[in-house]
Amino acid sequence: MKAEIIAVGTELLLGQIVNTNAQFLAAECASIGIDTYFQTVVGDNEQRLVEALDIASKRADLVICTGGLGPTQDDLTKDVLGRYLTKALILHEPSMERIRSFFEARGVHMVESNARQALMLEGSDPLPNDTGHAVGVALEAEGCRYMLLPGPPKEMKPMFTGYGKPWLLKAMGEERPLYSRMLKFAGIGESTLEHELLDLIERQQDPTIAPYAKEGEVTIRLATKASSKEEADGKLQPVEDAICQRVGQYLYAREDIGIEEAVLRLLKERGETLVTAESCTGGLLSDLLTGLPGSSAAFKGGIVSYSNGLKHKLLEIPMEVLEGEGAPGAVSDRTAELMAANLRSSLDADYALSVTGVAGPDSSEGKPPGLVYIGLAKRDGPVEVTKNRLGGSREIVKLRAAKQALYMLWR
Ligand code: ATP
Ligand code: MG
Repeated sequence: MKAEIIAVGTELLLGQIVNTNAQFLAAECASIGIDTYFQTVVGDNEQRLVEALDIASKRADLVICTGGLGPTQDDLTKDVLGRYLTKALILHEPSMERIRSFFEARGVHMVESNARQALMLEGSDPLPNDTGHAVGVALEAEGCRYMLLPGPPKEMKPMFTGYGKPWLLKAMGEERPLYSRMLKFAGIGESTLEHELLDLIERQQDPTIAPYAKEGEVTIRLATKASSKEEADGKLQPVEDAICQRVGQYLYAREDIGIEEAVLRLLKERGETLVTAESCTGGLLSDLLTGLPGSSAAFKGGIVSYSNGLKHKLLEIPMEVLEGEGAPGAVSDRTAELMAANLRSSLDADYALSVTGVAGPDSSEGKPPGLVYIGLAKRDGPVEVTKNRLGGSREIVKLRAAKQALYMLWR
């Protein structure tokens, strides 16, 4: 099924709000195998909305509109679609009843325009609004499916998830279901990964190979339509194998989990423990780990030694290493090495990870933003230190540094 998402609202065109509805709906559609080919934004204007509907219904099998289901004069999506499809608007009694009792309960007089929110198109299925007033609409007409959803995300999302998506799944019942696999990578950037797989990605048709980066990790989603799981596996496995042959060393999971979860599982399996010494990540590494329930089984805790004073006092890093003429400095492989080695031995953990770097946007010690040293100390064996040049804003550098540290331990 090919979809087009139409976001209706002049405030979107004016740049007053961001079109997060389209983002949500596109991701939701992708998750059930509906391909979004176009996203349109149109103002609260009848003629231009008709134009948008006309174009969309000709090039898509599913047109999802959000916005303009409210009670006011500029809310005209239902009226316009009704006129476009020459379908009358009829009252959806249960929604009308809900609206009436809402006003009654508050002792407020209901103005007539509120009744507009209970209207649906003849022959359409109502999509109940559990968090607001305007009833949604889903229908099939003239070979195209239409879905009208409210604009406010807090109404649109539950309506789509609770009623819109099941309606679509039912409509797609005759189509073959989509099977997908998630491959999660760390320690490699999205562009490098894509570069490694470029010919596979360019040749792809079935299964589709979709890489995307989010929060310091890269995900590849493989998807194919098939009549059975066996058939799907037969198509997905060779592609997965081809990918792993090239970048398998960065693959940490075949499900949608963060690298922190993969690391924790591994440590728990082996009955090992971890401590962290963080500078530029400011506790983010411990935050990622403690964000997972049961992390205490493997994660003992950590130190945020942000200043040189603390690195010296708590981690016994000599001041000569940290400061002064010719010293390696706080952002150096030597400091990362000592942070990890000293904390590990003083707390008697199996592993210690250390992170010290320049989060930016300014440079520090004459070192550029994004330069991050990560240390990994183990109970036996030498301390490993990596030098990383991470891109992005301060926030992104911190996140990438934390994820990179976890990857070092995982690998
Ligand atoms: P209402 O009953 O609130 O009038 P509505 O269905 O008529 O709802 P709109 O009037 O178009 O929807 O938008 C109401 C609010 O919903 C906007 O002010 C905005 O905050 C939010 N909104 C609308 N469209 C979007 C969108 N595409 N992405 C994110 N938020 C949106
Ligand atoms: Mg409105």
